[in-house]
Amino acid sequence: MELPIPDKIRIGAIEYDVQMCNEKEIATVGIHTPYYSSIRLDGSINHDLMQVVFLHEIIEAINHQHELKLDHSQMSSLGSALAQVIRDLPE
Ligand SMILES: [Zn+2]
Repeated sequence: MELPIPDKIRIGAIEYDVQMCNEKEIATVGIHTPYYSSIRLDGSINHDLMQVVFLHEIIEAINHQHELKLDHSQMSSLGSALAQVIRDLPE
């Protein structure tokens, strides 16, 4: 199953803009900016990585909103693990 990547996504009580950027604009594969309620993704990365990065940024937003104090490697592991589960769900 493919995780859709919409232009906007509500995470908790907050609606985030989801923007495709190029590598030069964000200098990383993805970034979550709480101040602007935005998630920006490098639109040139491959499909599988895009799913992992999008979930990672969603988890970053949840971590920020709820002050979970997850460290970055925990958020990366959760993003990667959830991407696999979602990908392998039947359509
Ligand atoms: Zn991150």
